[in-house]
Amino acid sequence: MRRQRKAKILATLGPASSTREQIAALFKAGADVFRLNFSHGSHEDHQKRYELIRAIEEENKRPIGILMDLQGPKLRVGTIAGGSVEVKTGGTFRFDLDGAQGDAKRAQLPHPEIFAAVQVGTNLLVDDGRLRLRVKNCGKDFAECDVLVGGKLSDRKGVNVPDVVLPLSPLTGKDREDLRFGLDLGVDWVAMSFVQRPEDVAELRKLIGGRAKVIAKLEKPAAIERLEEITDLSDAIMVARGDLGVEMPPEDVPAIQKRIVAACRKSGKPVVVATQMLESMVNSPAPTRAEASDVATAIYDGADAVMLSAETASGQYPVEAVSMMNRIIERVERDPAYRQILDARHPDPQPTGHDAISAAAAQVAHTLSVAAIVTYSTSGSTVLRVARERPEVPILALTASLSTSRALSLAWGAHCVQIPDLKRFSEMVETACSVALSQEMAKVGDRLVITAGVPFGTPGSTNILRVAWVEE
Ligand code: PGA
Ligand code: MN
Repeated sequence: MRRQRKAKILATLGPASSTREQIAALFKAGADVFRLNFSHGSHEDHQKRYELIRAIEEENKRPIGILMDLQGPKLRVGTIAGGSVEVKTGGTFRFDLDGAQGDAKRAQLPHPEIFAAVQVGTNLLVDDGRLRLRVKNCGKDFAECDVLVGGKLSDRKGVNVPDVVLPLSPLTGKDREDLRFGLDLGVDWVAMSFVQRPEDVAELRKLIGGRAKVIAKLEKPAAIERLEEITDLSDAIMVARGDLGVEMPPEDVPAIQKRIVAACRKSGKPVVVATQMLESMVNSPAPTRAEASDVATAIYDGADAVMLSAETASGQYPVEAVSMMNRIIERVERDPAYRQILDARHPDPQPTGHDAISAAAAQVAHTLSVAAIVTYSTSGSTVLRVARERPEVPILALTASLSTSRALSLAWGAHCVQIPDLKRFSEMVETACSVALSQEMAKVGDRLVITAGVPFGTPGSTNILRVAWVEE
């Protein structure tokens, strides 16, 4: 079973997508990677979904990526007397550490780190930015604010503080427990929420110790300022537009999305564009024209993958949302303008064996109209360098490592197949041809471009480019 597109689809699982039939239907419709969102659900819920995905993987004989998304330090107000209160525009409001229930004048904000970091003039956004307050006086355990935009303030609503770098570890106690649990399950990717600094990613990487790959979610202005350094330390990036669009003015988000996608293409790191892509499909079987255009734009920008959140986790039309995304991607990829845009933004190869061979492979594939580029890879890094070339033909990624084949399900253009370790040089061409035939990526008489590294199984050794005719 092979997808007829290069860009990938991530689908978030939730109450609307937890049975074997539902998850299998999402996979069939086009989901390449499933997201387990640890902001919701119990460990048992996630474990059950994890096991169902692995059963579906086994049944379809195709690697499927599983991403765990850590909740991160989501800041919240305390409880309010009566559940909610009206906060008046133009008035003043106080946040403090006092555990007493809140009212129209004050509420608890049980995060001393916020009071340590805010200054006169700092903005506090409550409930996805619906309420806006500005600090006019503050101390180590309180902040007096002007209410710029008032509204209903309810129990436990989220708070965003976009203007300052908060002295918070992006890993809470819950995140650390969830991480241990997810790594024991065997997730392929771990997404870190509210990354502020490169050190945050480094801290997570140390805890993971090579057992999974790391995605940094860019949803804070501070992270955008250090985009290059954060990208360097991550295995992939998510443009997390949900919180990013609260922390920054919505009109800034499209330009930032394009900047992040371009930076990732340059560095060869997979990039996922996420949130509200087909939002109206939560309640409707068809998207708006604007949503179809939004998915298409992410693909034209050159993203590796696009993601569905509520659409598949709790919406009424999860399978329809994945099929719609699949159709939009296929349609964009047939547009000659898509190819022109990718080529116009082609990044120069870096002076490494990997890049020299990958750039040559894409060039030869074009000149000879080959059926596919076959890439032997242990860690998957060569496959990402070939993907960075955005070649016209599919990339058949052959690896002996199951975890590499699963992780690469996020990468643009990669169709991964797990194979036994090669022993002899002559097996390289034979195996490439037989897998290309069995995966219906080539016919007898087609040509393939093959890249590999000798000695086999040594990461970073890519040094061979071979053109081969496909024989029976
Ligand atoms: P979330 O992340 O769904 O975990 O909040 C994505 C986003 O903020 O866009
Ligand atoms: Mn978020």
